[in-house]
Amino acid sequence: MRLRCVRVLEDRVDFVLEVGAPGSSAVRASAAAALMERLPGLADHRCSTGGDHLFTEELAVTEPAHLFEHLVLEIMACAGSPRSVHGQTVWRKGDDVFRVSIYDDDDAVCVGAARLALRMIEDAFAGRTVRDPRDAIERIGSLRATPSRKRSAIDPPRAAVLRYPATPEPGDPHDVDVREEGVIGPATPP
Ligand SMILES: [Zn+2]
Repeated sequence: MRLRCVRVLEDRVDFVLEVGAPGSSAVRASAAAALMERLPGLADHRCSTGGDHLFTEELAVTEPAHLFEHLVLEIMACAGSPRSVHGQTVWRKGDDVFRVSIYDDDDAVCVGAARLALRMIEDAFAGRTVRDPRDAIERIGSLRATPSRKRSAIDPPRAAVLRYPATPEPGDPHDVDVREEGVIGPATPP
């Protein structure tokens, strides 16, 4: 997986990722298990595409870019971000370019978390031991600007709207086939 670009926007940070061959289902499943072991909070996440199965099962079969989204969210939460940070992954079927948007509370923490997430995913998919992220998370947390200039990003009513969007608006300009929204648990559906 290669990071093609990062865009820091008013309300979010966008990451454009190129994902190569995703690996066999066995590789994906063992990579997901290795990542869960290092970041057990992932088990509490929820997804708009989750359906009935457990998030842990979703992670074992999903696109690596989607895995990246949830890793970034979890690392940010471990680094002190509120659990209302949330994300979205969009892609076109058959294309290997993904856009991951993180509605973050702090851009520096978000980009630091993304860097660590990429390394962890790289290790997990290569079958290497996934590094213990705790020291890196502490360093990422120290990047935080206080007070946050992004108060609106964590405003609960707004976060609730972004978490559970209705069906896409007619004429939605985003030319995408798949869109999913991820949040950090515990789930609090409206
Ligand atoms: Zn998700």
